[in-house]
Amino acid sequence: MKAVTCPCGSGAPYASCCQPFHAGAEPPDAERLMRSRFAAFALGDAAYLWRTLHADHDERASGSEEALRKHLAAQRGKVVYRALEILEVVPPDADGAAQVVFHASIRARGRDASFTERSTFVHDGVGWRYLCGEVA
Ligand SMILES: [Zn+2]
Repeated sequence: MKAVTCPCGSGAPYASCCQPFHAGAEPPDAERLMRSRFAAFALGDAAYLWRTLHADHDERASGSEEALRKHLAAQRGKVVYRALEILEVVPPDADGAAQVVFHASIRARGRDASFTERSTFVHDGVGWRYLCGEVA
């Protein structure tokens, strides 16, 4: 069987890249978490996206895993997560917050919906979590 390339764009097989994280392992750093979250968007893995959202993220208060699942299901076939490029990685500061600047190449309903974002990640004692993002 031909190995499936990971949707995060690393060039590595999915099985040895982001799949272990989607299956329950914790990414060792913010960049790996970022990559695995992009791959989860590409695969429509709502459970992983919800699990790796920090408790203080806005969506935790206003949304739900079910709402996220419906959102991703509605995107299926209409939104294509084409590529992820990591532009900058800032290691954890004194408060433990790490930053990743990335460019996500996305096509939504036939149009370019790509964007660049500076995301902040913090470790919650269990694993790295996505706290917030700011379009750069
Ligand atoms: Zn990957």
